[in-house]
Amino acid sequence: MDFELEPEHIQIRDTVKKFCEKEVIPFAEEWEKEEIFPLETIRNMGKLGFFASPFPEEYGGTELGFLANSIVAEELGRASLGLACCLNMQSGTCPMTILLNGNETQKEKYIPGIISGELLGCFAVTEPNAATDMAGIETKAIRDGDSYIMNGSKLWITHATVFDAGICFAKTDPSQRHKGLSAFIIEKDMPGLSARAEKDKLGVRSSDTGEIVFEDCKVPEENLIGEEGQGFAIAESSLTYGRANIAARSLGIGQAAVDAAIRYANEREQFGKKIGSFQMNKQIIADMVANTEASRLLVYRASWLQDKGLPSANESTIAKFFASEAAVQAVIGAAKIHGAYTYSSEYVVARLYRDVMLMTAGEGTSNIQRIIIANNALDLNK
Ligand SMILES: Cc1cc2nc3c(=O)[nH]c(=O)nc-3n(C[C@H](O)[C@H](O)[C@H](O)COP(=O)(O)OP(=O)(O)OC[C@H]3O[C@@H](n4cnc5c(N)ncnc54)[C@H](O)[C@@H]3O)c2cc1C
Repeated sequence: MDFELEPEHIQIRDTVKKFCEKEVIPFAEEWEKEEIFPLETIRNMGKLGFFASPFPEEYGGTELGFLANSIVAEELGRASLGLACCLNMQSGTCPMTILLNGNETQKEKYIPGIISGELLGCFAVTEPNAATDMAGIETKAIRDGDSYIMNGSKLWITHATVFDAGICFAKTDPSQRHKGLSAFIIEKDMPGLSARAEKDKLGVRSSDTGEIVFEDCKVPEENLIGEEGQGFAIAESSLTYGRANIAARSLGIGQAAVDAAIRYANEREQFGKKIGSFQMNKQIIADMVANTEASRLLVYRASWLQDKGLPSANESTIAKFFASEAAVQAVIGAAKIHGAYTYSSEYVVARLYRDVMLMTAGEGTSNIQRIIIANNALDLNK
């Protein structure tokens, strides 16, 4: 067993850190306040290869692997969770679904553009009446000659109003639940597709989120991924990677909370002493540090397994569950250390507080991760 990062991992961490210090952190508060979607920054991240590490060279990837991808997610999550939301669309579930399940034409057509940041991706599952219950999806895609006619709507979709091409799940057989689901590649210019932004969100306001509506939208048959009825299995295949990715972003925001708490505890004085010298504050900081370190080990283990091509679904689920819950606790800890100044825009902790809850909801809520972990432990998934 070796806990050392490889030199290429250290190099990518340093590159992303420097990028964040110069191009993200100075602007993050303004992006959040003004709901600015930082398109140029995302394009620059693409040019620097930040999205390309898990992908083969033949599709424009750098083949640096999943651990490298998690390190990028961690550092971006630490700098701006709003910006880091784009990662899943540019290097996670969206292009990974095509890599794992698409045909050669689909891979060549979409993956290079998405992982280079030239095209923006999306991954549309959630609907007004179907979120955790994916099999309850009501959007229909009914075959009509050499196309499918799609009707329905998707809610809370990252990149809804800015995406170029992405994945959408719809029922090709509405009489079935899981077995009726299929996966499609959608493009923003398809006739019958429209989008509306979800404005004034609580957090991650620099991330574009919204509704995508399909009204007799014509989707060519060549945009079906795999076969009709395979949608649920296709979603599951890429969610393993999506969960490791969101776990890494959670680790990043947790680390940002630790950094903020330590900085403030070493600066603020009460009773003539630094507040970090008080036993009860030390306990808060110790819990935050220990849980964040444990998150890091879980995230890196899941990513390492993925790099080795070993099964990682359960480990990714454990990492996602633990790291997202630990991040929430770390942000609460940072808020306690900051006291009244949590409410000041002078400190980063207010932004962390608004952003962090998304980590326990996206890619399956904590309840769902618990159910999967328990079912695996109890051998009930067979
Ligand atoms: C900023 C943002 C970006 C998003 N981006 C995307 C995106 O790009 N693509 C996308 O498809 N979705 C996206 N989502 C939606 C997100 O994935 C959903 O919020 C998530 O799937 C949970 O759905 P829900 O919040 O509606 O909760 P619900 O499914 O309504 O569940 C509510 C609560 O009940 C619990 N619950 C539900 N069923 C069970 C059960 N069987 N057992 C135990 N507990 C249960 C849940 O754990 C949760 O705590 C985004 C959301 C936000 C806020």
